[in-house]
Amino acid sequence: MDFKLSAEQEILRQVAREFAETRVAPLVPIMEKEGKWPDELGPAMGEAGFLGVTIPERYGGSGLGHLARMLILEEVGTVSAAVAMALQVFVLGIDPIINAGSEEQKERLLPALAEGQRLATVAITEASGGSDPTAITTTYRAEKRDGADGFVLDGRKVFITNAHVADVQVVLARTEEETPRFSTFLVERGMPGFRPGREEHKVGFRGCNTGEIILEDCFVPVANLLGAEGDGLKLVLKSISEVGRAGMAGCALGLLAASLKAASDYAAKRQLYGKPINRLPAIQAKLADMAIALETSRLLAYKAAWAKDNGLRCDADMAMAKYHSTEMAILAAKLAAEVHGGYGYTEEFPTQRYLRDVQLLVPSAGTSDVMKIVIGRSVSR
Ligand SMILES: Cc1cc2nc3c(=O)[nH]c(=O)nc-3n(C[C@H](O)[C@H](O)[C@H](O)COP(=O)(O)OP(=O)(O)OC[C@H]3O[C@@H](n4cnc5c(N)ncnc54)[C@H](O)[C@@H]3O)c2cc1C
Repeated sequence: MDFKLSAEQEILRQVAREFAETRVAPLVPIMEKEGKWPDELGPAMGEAGFLGVTIPERYGGSGLGHLARMLILEEVGTVSAAVAMALQVFVLGIDPIINAGSEEQKERLLPALAEGQRLATVAITEASGGSDPTAITTTYRAEKRDGADGFVLDGRKVFITNAHVADVQVVLARTEEETPRFSTFLVERGMPGFRPGREEHKVGFRGCNTGEIILEDCFVPVANLLGAEGDGLKLVLKSISEVGRAGMAGCALGLLAASLKAASDYAAKRQLYGKPINRLPAIQAKLADMAIALETSRLLAYKAAWAKDNGLRCDADMAMAKYHSTEMAILAAKLAAEVHGGYGYTEEFPTQRYLRDVQLLVPSAGTSDVMKIVIGRSVSR
């Protein structure tokens, strides 16, 4: 067993750290205030190689893989969980295209997605309940328009990350039959009948766009059916469980590292009883709990990403990594605020942002309740 990262992975981690400190950090106060996605970041992250990390080289990516992606997300997430979240979903949106795209779709879309000239997302969730994707009501039917074969989509998706930013949306829809077939479609910006809906105003992940997309009599050419008709649910669930959950674990690692650093820095400076508070056993115990939370989360997340990179079954590993790291990030944000005393709740320190951000890690890509079901099933197979 070798826990050492490769030289290439270490370099990538360093590149991501520098990017986060120089390109992301200055935008954080603006994103917090305005709640808007900074459009320049998509192409910048493409140029830095963060969007093409899972895309094979022949389609313009680096093919460095999922552990490399985890390292990038941790570094970016340490500076901004909102930017890490947007980044994780840009890459999630690419995954079904890599897995099931036709040669024409891959050649047309992947190079631009790797460069960040176009951005992607996955649109599954509806008001009918995110935990049960079979309850979606967005429908599709085959139709010929102006001599072209295609499908007409009608419905409304909610809680979609990058909804108003993405150029390519991987949309799950169903047939109207009583026992429906589920299929996925590549809905591209500018297609008639497709438009963004309401934008959510979230208390955390400020600046990461979350919103509705609306499909009204939206004609999608047959060339934009992704994968075989009827395979849609299987396709998107594979991406969510193996790439979406990994991405949320990566965001959680960032928040864990940020919480630990903030608490440790503050405890070294804050003086009480004539000495820094990091000499107090109770404060040391909180720092220790945070360090253990970060380390155990890293081990689970890196192992799950390694399994994915090596073509091993990893749904339960991903669920464990997602569950543990997100729950630990919630604990770490709470402890970091406590170490700051009353100052932890003021805008002067970032701990209040971490407290607002962490809770959103839980529902995204499946709640902790759902993760436990996946893990429970895996140990009773
Ligand atoms: C910030 C953010 C970004 C998101 N981005 C996307 C995106 O890009 N694309 C997308 O398609 N979706 C996205 N989602 C949606 C997300 O996947 C759903 O919010 C999530 O699946 C939960 O669905 P829900 O909110 O409808 O809650 P519900 O499914 O209504 O769940 C409500 C409660 O019931 C519990 N519950 C559900 N089933 C069970 C069960 N079997 N046993 C026990 N308890 C259960 C849940 O844990 C939860 O506590 C995003 C959500 C958020 C908050």
